[in-house]
Amino acid sequence: RDDLILQFQITLYGDDERLVMARDITRLHRLEQMRRDFVANVSHELRTPLTVLSGYLETYAALTEDMPEEQLPPRWQRGLTQMQEQTTRMQNLVNDLLLLSRLETDHRLEQESRVDVAALLEQVAADTRALSEAGHVVRIETDTHRGLAGIEQELHSALSNLAFNAVRYTPPESTITLRWRPWRDGAALEVEDNGEGIDPVHIPRLTERFYRVDQGRSKATGGTGLGLAIVKHVLLRHDAQLEIVSQPGKGALFRCVFPAARLYLPEAGETPNAM
Ligand code: ADP
Repeated sequence: RDDLILQFQITLYGDDERLVMARDITRLHRLEQMRRDFVANVSHELRTPLTVLSGYLETYAALTEDMPEEQLPPRWQRGLTQMQEQTTRMQNLVNDLLLLSRLETDHRLEQESRVDVAALLEQVAADTRALSEAGHVVRIETDTHRGLAGIEQELHSALSNLAFNAVRYTPPESTITLRWRPWRDGAALEVEDNGEGIDPVHIPRLTERFYRVDQGRSKATGGTGLGLAIVKHVLLRHDAQLEIVSQPGKGALFRCVFPAARLYLPEAGETPNAM
């Protein structure tokens, strides 16, 4: 059959003995595909009604902004604000679910190009400063001039997720460092903070969908629970790996390690993003 998928396991016993096992995982594979399609379709279908809802809520909020209390009691006003907040949360969740199901398949958000990493870091740093109302200090360190061959939109998404997490899980006025540096025979994009850190028991599970160290805290800060799963999938598509180094009370370091094969030296006068 064309679609038959077999998984092989070869076990070596002594010098001469081997056991070869073949398992038909076609059904499992199809079920997994159906799950992905279902999540992608539902997320896609939910987008339009949510956009309509949020549009109306925005209009009502604008119309009622200066209304006196007799016309709009504070209880109703609070209800309106709650509806707006929850609609935004649902929109974020649906967008992240859709992005994640695209990343799990071969679907590319855009063509591969030569990404100017320094410019990417500048963009993400500016967005991170804008997000932080608490006055976080966002710094950039670039220790290599190499460019990165990849999908810019996806890399932007991964880096923003890490940087926004650093804002959300650190106290006000903490320092967040975005770094591009040589690492082993390749290079690494790092996001480091000096916040409260993560207990090592949680680290192996952080990239699972909806895994959170503290459910309440994550929801209160507007997280969808999918940020690190998105990072992991973007990196998989770039032959890269995520390393998380953290100790409670000693901040957290998220390191995305890219192999040498993904790096290039920009030539004089080269326009990044042309490949
Ligand atoms: P969420 O939407 O919950 O932030 P993520 O997948 O982005 O989902 O992160 C998973 C969990 O990892 C978070 O709920 C949080 O507990 C922990 N986490 C992520 N980044 C940091 C950080 N910089 N410092 C401390 N904890 C973090």
